[in-house]
Amino acid sequence: MTRAVLWYVTHRITLHPDTDVTFEAECLHCEWTARPSEDGAAVDIECMGRSGHKGFRRRCTSFAMVARIDSDERPDSLSAEVRPHEDTGGGV
Ligand SMILES: [Zn+2]
Repeated sequence: MTRAVLWYVTHRITLHPDTDVTFEAECLHCEWTARPSEDGAAVDIECMGRSGHKGFRRRCTSFAMVARIDSDERPDSLSAEVRPHEDTGGGV
């Protein structure tokens, strides 16, 4: 006889602790790009200071990591993903 044991492990995704968020912008009409910065307002100001550039593509880049949440620290509001784990035991 074979039986299966299923349980759920809760994970969360969060900003990687050793990284920063980077803001970037580029003109929609020419090759101009703003200097990437960790300060989004600084990038916006650089865009506004360039006469003749009316539209920009802005990017915000961050790095994330997925970590397992132990059952004793599991706040339901932070649960982003639940995956079943299957363990097929030997016959009983
Ligand atoms: Zn331009």
